[in-house]
Amino acid sequence: MFQQLCKDARSLPTDDRTTDQKRSDALLDRLRGTKRDWNVRTFVTVSMETLMGLTNDPGHLAGYGPIAADTARELAMHGPWRGILLDQYRHATAITTDTYRPTALMKEFAHASAGGTCTAPGCASPIQEYDHITPWPAGHTTPANLQGLCRWHHHRKHDNYTVTRDPDGTSHWTTPTGRHYTTRPFEY
Ligand SMILES: [Zn+2]
Repeated sequence: MFQQLCKDARSLPTDDRTTDQKRSDALLDRLRGTKRDWNVRTFVTVSMETLMGLTNDPGHLAGYGPIAADTARELAMHGPWRGILLDQYRHATAITTDTYRPTALMKEFAHASAGGTCTAPGCASPIQEYDHITPWPAGHTTPANLQGLCRWHHHRKHDNYTVTRDPDGTSHWTTPTGRHYTTRPFEY
């Protein structure tokens, strides 16, 4: 409500009212029903376990506080989400997205981790495209699941190659005839 009232107040003409007065006028307009275009963003943080229904730990609604697990799950169903990965101190270390398109920063990361060169075995072409190693949506749009390829290898991979990546960054390419090659991340 506060976000929306601030927005309403900003859209009112400049006069001698203070921002608080404008917000309270905007609230009156809303109560009278003269404005009906509510459009606010809410941020809900919820654990993966709660989201999957394994536990009922409360979620957290930004600007409000804890909310019931059911409410958090309900809200999560109706909006885009981002995953925040935590380290052993429960500090955020990385962010993921449920969208297909990787962020510019994820692409830069894939580019940097391959030294700018196609990740396919033996290829020295520059990176031209970005590929979900495990296809989306089963494979998430994360730096760990994104690799940079030249256009030719990107098409080959989607044709009939199998590619997996170990947690240490080693990639395994298996050709249609069963040959196996490994590649390693670029060493700086
Ligand atoms: Zn290539």
